[in-house]
Amino acid sequence: MKRTTVENIVSASVNAGAEHSPARAAIEQYQFSRLRQTIDHAMTNSPFYQTRMAGTVPADITDHGALSRLPFTSEGDLRRSGQDMLCISQDEVARIITMQSSGTTGPPKRLFFTEDDLERTLDFFHHGMKSLVKGGQKVLILLPGATPDSTGDLLARALARMDVASRIYGLVTDPQLAAKEVFAENFDAIVGFPVQLLALSRTPAGQSVPAGQIKSVLLCSDYIPQTVCDELSAAWQCRVFSHYGTVETGLGGGVECEGLCGCHLREADLLFEVVCPRTGVSLDRGQWGEVVFSTLTRRGMPLIRYRTGDYGRLLAGPCVCGSHITRLDKVRGRIGQVRQLDNGQAVSMDMLDEILLAIPGVLDFQPVLQKENGRDRLIVRLTSIPANSDEVFQLAALRLKGVAQLKDIEVILEANPSGLINKAKRIIEDNRGKNQP
Ligand SMILES: [Zn+2]
Repeated sequence: MKRTTVENIVSASVNAGAEHSPARAAIEQYQFSRLRQTIDHAMTNSPFYQTRMAGTVPADITDHGALSRLPFTSEGDLRRSGQDMLCISQDEVARIITMQSSGTTGPPKRLFFTEDDLERTLDFFHHGMKSLVKGGQKVLILLPGATPDSTGDLLARALARMDVASRIYGLVTDPQLAAKEVFAENFDAIVGFPVQLLALSRTPAGQSVPAGQIKSVLLCSDYIPQTVCDELSAAWQCRVFSHYGTVETGLGGGVECEGLCGCHLREADLLFEVVCPRTGVSLDRGQWGEVVFSTLTRRGMPLIRYRTGDYGRLLAGPCVCGSHITRLDKVRGRIGQVRQLDNGQAVSMDMLDEILLAIPGVLDFQPVLQKENGRDRLIVRLTSIPANSDEVFQLAALRLKGVAQLKDIEVILEANPSGLINKAKRIIEDNRGKNQP
């Protein structure tokens, strides 16, 4: 088995030489050295970090124990103090990514990147994609790519560096239309969000793709349902890789190797930890908690101990590919998106994904929680093939009825007759607090 190609970048940074697999100790020595430089840079140049980290002596941060005593940063800090977290002048900023989360009022979240920051993302995409494709092949990119330095654009440029052609289609709304168009061409690999790929594969055009033509698929999302991985690999006889990354990690964060057992993290640029979501206490490898990372090379807007809100765990020990680059297990969704119900149970998007996306014919769904006569009600709007398919609805109703967490909760299934899939972030919309006396 080929070693993770992420190792190429980490080896170069750690100075282990391309032919060597850097040992854990060497990687961590490099990481803490870069972290100390980052803290120093942040405390010198950002008013936010000057205050937040007052009293910190960068030279003292030599191990995980010292790291665990540093304060966290969060999405709230980005919203409230983003400008003050910036460590460079505005004219050194090459790209700003602005995000206004759905359902959130107040200032948007803004991330600032320099040319060098973006180059390191490009480099990660370049090496990371080497596990999936080789020169002369062609990749379909189902990610936004219209603006320069968007994820799709960076990925296409990274692929060009390895002589791999690509087509940026963007996000799919009409899977039938998109499938007819894209599958008229032959692609060796596809990159996109799980629901988008699943919907494409379930259309007649997607089902007529000859087995083995698509050799690999890369899924990127905060939650990648196992049912989607299983179905895609069976439908197209391809390898299904996972990618972990957010705008905060610099779009790229980690990618699976051929072993398909957790994302090898971008350890040349990011130092990951997992902490207890409630207490903030650092957890050992293997334990589930909130994923936290610090940037090691970012000059524009460094993030120190940034809480991602993702529920995950770091895997202990070397990978089956032989590499000591840390792996992040499949993330189990967003911590803040778990919805508590009247019946004392909780419901989350990842749970509904595994149940509903496993039903053949389902293309997408949107769940909404409401209060009706003082009781919780879950409305699920299903997009299916064919639209309004009785069979799909009966099966969905049956499966949801069997979910212990939804006991005593009224569940209503509605059809989305448009046949379109939702481009917005997939969350359980919670309207229970709205229009209440
Ligand atoms: Zn591996």
